[in-house]
Amino acid sequence: MIIVDCYGRPVRGLRISVNPSYRCNFRCIFCHMEGVVESGSEVMMNPEEIEKIVKILLKYNIRKVKLTGGEPMLRRDILEIVERLGRLDLEDLSMTTNGTRLISMAKKLKMAGLRRVNISLHSVSSEKYCWITGTTKSGDGRTRYDYTIDAIRAAVDAGLNPVKLNVVVMKNVNQDELERLIEFASIFEGKVILQLIELIEEGASDKEFFNRYYYDLREVEERLECMAVKIVTRSLHMRRQYLLPNGVWVEVVRPNSNYQFCMHDDRIRITHDGKFKPCLMRDDNLVDFLTYLRAGASEEELEKLFLKAIKLREPYYRPPTLKPSEDISIIQEASYKKR
Ligand code: SAM
Ligand code: SF4
Repeated sequence: MIIVDCYGRPVRGLRISVNPSYRCNFRCIFCHMEGVVESGSEVMMNPEEIEKIVKILLKYNIRKVKLTGGEPMLRRDILEIVERLGRLDLEDLSMTTNGTRLISMAKKLKMAGLRRVNISLHSVSSEKYCWITGTTKSGDGRTRYDYTIDAIRAAVDAGLNPVKLNVVVMKNVNQDELERLIEFASIFEGKVILQLIELIEEGASDKEFFNRYYYDLREVEERLECMAVKIVTRSLHMRRQYLLPNGVWVEVVRPNSNYQFCMHDDRIRITHDGKFKPCLMRDDNLVDFLTYLRAGASEEELEKLFLKAIKLREPYYRPPTLKPSEDISIIQEASYKKR
C-alpha cells in the first residue's frame, strides 16, 4: 500500500523534528532563532508519542524515518527514541545532527537501531566553521570544530553508514571549499558522502541575509558533472549524486525555485510539538495531532488527521499549468510503478 497526494507524489518518508530550532547549542548564521524565546514549558512529543505516530504511518508503508531538530542530540531521551523506533519494521532510521555527544553516543545509537547519520560540517577551516556555527572554544581549549571532526570519526567507527556531511554553501563564505571538502571526505575511504546544500530563505525577514549569502549550486553541479566518473539521480528530490575519481560521492540539494525538488518530495514532516507539516517551505498549513493524541484519540482519528495533512500537500515550486486531482489515493505499490 502506498499513499499518493493530489499532485501524484507518493509519500514514503518521515522527518521528525524532536527539538525546536532554538533548542540548540550552536547559533548557525542561517538558522533563524532570533526573537524566539524559550519558555521552558513548550509542548514536546515524548518518546512514546513519537513511537505511536510512527507506528500509525507504518500502516501506509512510510518506513524511512529521519530525526532532526533543532539539535536532536540535546534531548536527554534521544537513545530511548532511537531504541523505540529501532524496534519497528523500518527500512531506514537516520538522524541529522551537529555532532554533539556523538563521540560518546555513536556506538550506543547504532546498537539501538540508528542506521546512518548526517553531520553538519560547513567548513574544513576551524575558524570559519566556528564563525558559521556561532561557537567558541570550550574550557579545554578545543573548538567545536575539533569535536565535530572527532564526532565524524566516531560515527564512521561505530558503523553508521554512510555518514553524510551536510554543507550549507554560501557566497563568499565557503563557496571556495569544494576541493578541500572532497579531500577531507576521501580520508574515510567511501564511508563519507559530501552533501552540498543550497541556502534556503526562511521567512521574509531573512531576505537581506539570503541575498547576501545565497549561492546557486547549479554552477557547482556543472563542475561536478565534468569531474564525475558516474552520476546517479535519486528519486528523492531528483537529487544528483556524483562519484568522483578519488571514490568520494557528492550529493547536491538544490531546493530553490526548483520544480524537480518539490515534484519529487516524498516526505511528510512532523514538528517537535506534534503537528504534521505538509511542506518544507511553509508553516501556515500545519495539522496538529498531539492535542488529540493526548486527549485519547483513537488510531482511526489520528489517521484521519494524517490523511488531512497529505491532502494539504502542494509542491511549493511547480509548473503553473499543473492541476491537482480531487483527492489523495491509496494504491498498491505495483500499480503505482506501472503508472
Ligand atoms: N542541528 C542539526 C544540524 O544542524 O545538523 C539538525 C537540524 S538542522 C535544521 C538540519 C540541516 O539543515 C543542517 O544540515 C543545517 O545545516 C541545515 N540548515 C539549517 N538552516 C538552513 C538554511 N537556511 N538553508 C539550508 N540549510 C539549512
Ligand atoms: Fe540550527 Fe542545526 Fe545550526 Fe543548531 S546546529 S543552529 S539547529 S542549523
